[in-house]
Amino acid sequence: MLIIASHNGAIGIADAMRALKSGASAMDAVEIGIRAVEANPDEHSVGYNGYPNILGELELDASIMDGRTLNSGAVALMRGFPYAVSVARQVMERKLPHVLLAGAGAERFAREIGAEQWDEMLTKEIRAVWRKRLAAVGATDWFERHSTETPAFTADTPLLDWVTLATDPERVKGTVNFIAIDGAGDIASGVSTSGWAWKYPGRIGDSPIIGAGNYADNRYGACACTGMGEMAIRAGTARSLVLYLQIGVSLPEAGRRAMSDLRDLGGDFIGGMNLVALSRDGEHAGFASEAGRTYIFQRAEMAAHEEVECETVAIPARWAGEARR
Ligand code: ASP
Repeated sequence: MLIIASHNGAIGIADAMRALKSGASAMDAVEIGIRAVEANPDEHSVGYNGYPNILGELELDASIMDGRTLNSGAVALMRGFPYAVSVARQVMERKLPHVLLAGAGAERFAREIGAEQWDEMLTKEIRAVWRKRLAAVGATDWFERHSTETPAFTADTPLLDWVTLATDPERVKGTVNFIAIDGAGDIASGVSTSGWAWKYPGRIGDSPIIGAGNYADNRYGACACTGMGEMAIRAGTARSLVLYLQIGVSLPEAGRRAMSDLRDLGGDFIGGMNLVALSRDGEHAGFASEAGRTYIFQRAEMAAHEEVECETVAIPARWAGEARR
């Protein structure tokens, strides 16, 4: 039994391991681990109290994949339901003939299955950060003209210029990854995020896209991503790493290749990427484009998780003409 996670999964890994040890499936462990992060108000890139989109709305993306069957469930752009990974799992388990539900459809489904719904998904502090960021691009007029805390943006409010905030050097991103192998040797992987802070409304990242930000296959292994989702979507990164395992490449080399593939992406908007991965025999690894990144793991016989450094595989940044970290 083994669980690996992005470093922000530390809050949930002990409960996830406890569940595994008492006979829970890898799918259960992944869901338990991620829910703890989704509920954590101090984690601003996942679930409740994440950084919102440019309109001040929190839109959540999540997915979960069962490596036994390759069954998967995912939600994107979901508002008002903090436990996105649980709704994603139900998309898979309620026998919908679909993998991914987005926006109003995802919210309708979440209501229909009785998923936990919260009226307020952001604290005052996070709203204040959002207002401050909007002020930085001259959107303050909006707050002066609309004295409410959350101004009523209209369908015509120009956002294209403001959304450059999503690409500024203080941009805030993050995601949680969990991958587990249970007592039966089954693998599951899950990913949950609020996406880029200040993103354009409707933007969907790699986290709910099976094959991009998340992939698990009992026969070979699993991979999950954090970082610039657009890159993982374009390169099919999580699936790539598992496919490298499938053709007989070792885990360290599979990670290096999946990361190196991202160097060949054209265009200006090339940024950071981080992968956590494991092979079916329980070897695990992390890969990051910046030095010093870590991930965590815990085996059944360990009293607590350990944090280990990712292998660095540099991806030279090309950020709208300016090289930025
Ligand atoms: N991958 C996430 C996304 O693009 C963000 C992140 O992990 O930083 O939505």
